[in-house]
Amino acid sequence: MGQLLAGAPLAAKIHDEVITLVTAMKKRYGRGPVFCVAQVGDSKEASLYVEFQKKIAAKLGIECIVRTLPEMVKQEEVIAEIHALNNDASINGIILQLPLPVHLNTARIQANIAPHKDVEGIHPENLGRIILKNAGFTPCTACAVMELLQQTGVAFSGKEAVIVGHSGIVGKPLALMLLDKLSTVTVCHIGTTQAGNLEKHVRSAEILVVAVGKPNLIKGEWIKPGAIVVDVGITCIGGKVAGDVEFEAAAKRAAFITPVPGGVGPVTVAILMRNVAQAARLQCSKEKQ
Ligand code: NAD
Repeated sequence: MGQLLAGAPLAAKIHDEVITLVTAMKKRYGRGPVFCVAQVGDSKEASLYVEFQKKIAAKLGIECIVRTLPEMVKQEEVIAEIHALNNDASINGIILQLPLPVHLNTARIQANIAPHKDVEGIHPENLGRIILKNAGFTPCTACAVMELLQQTGVAFSGKEAVIVGHSGIVGKPLALMLLDKLSTVTVCHIGTTQAGNLEKHVRSAEILVVAVGKPNLIKGEWIKPGAIVVDVGITCIGGKVAGDVEFEAAAKRAAFITPVPGGVGPVTVAILMRNVAQAARLQCSKEKQ
């Protein structure tokens, strides 16, 4: 049976780092970090997630403000709201709650967030910095996966790393981050499955990261014995949350495996809070100059 790679211990460690940062900032500048979640419409799922972020933020001494815009808001109005937040010195970080209604262009709105307030790491400038290996904000989930992998003590160099899912917030940035650690990276996606090649690639993975959103897509028997398995997928079925990997069967073969829920999720939120605290500290020190 593989070792459980739970998110809680790492999240707790990051929370401690954030509390130290926030305490120092309050002492030095007389104020703590503040971030704003821009939410369009009031879907139950989005509101629940925002409440969860608010609760964690409060625990760490960070203030979370929510701006809710009506479902039928125009693209220009959302961009105007983002610009207002960019220009508001009391706001250190901006989160655009996804998904947006289909009439809005998500990428165009995200590109209007000031890069130094882009705590989710989704602005084109921050994404580009990953290729250049320059410090910037990195998408929180990709970062969470890297930090969880590091917890295992794995030597990345030369490892066969297979990522299933090629989104801009998980698969693509993670592929670049693993490449920089000299892993041999394969990225699979819907085209891989349609070509009948998913099983072959997964079977070769020494490091396997799955971010698709299809429960049980990855069969337990495909896991290479001794592999590290990180399951990013989240699907709600009948009030329960499921990942993308057949957990019980995969855990028998893997050396390490993340649970769902309780794996990548809590670390992602902790990293988001760390980004908010770092953004706030940088902005305060620039204001002081
Ligand atoms: P996305 O929805 O943008 O893209 C899905 C990816 O899966 C694409 O690359 C697509 O080609 C691939 N795919 C779809 N069907 C496939 C199949 N049958 N075989 C192989 N590949 C297939 O992805 P996303 O936004 O990165 O989200 C992926 C999952 O991760 C979702 O379940 C999401 O809820 C979850 N997620 C979790 C966290 C977290 O913190 N735990 C954060 C972000 C996303």
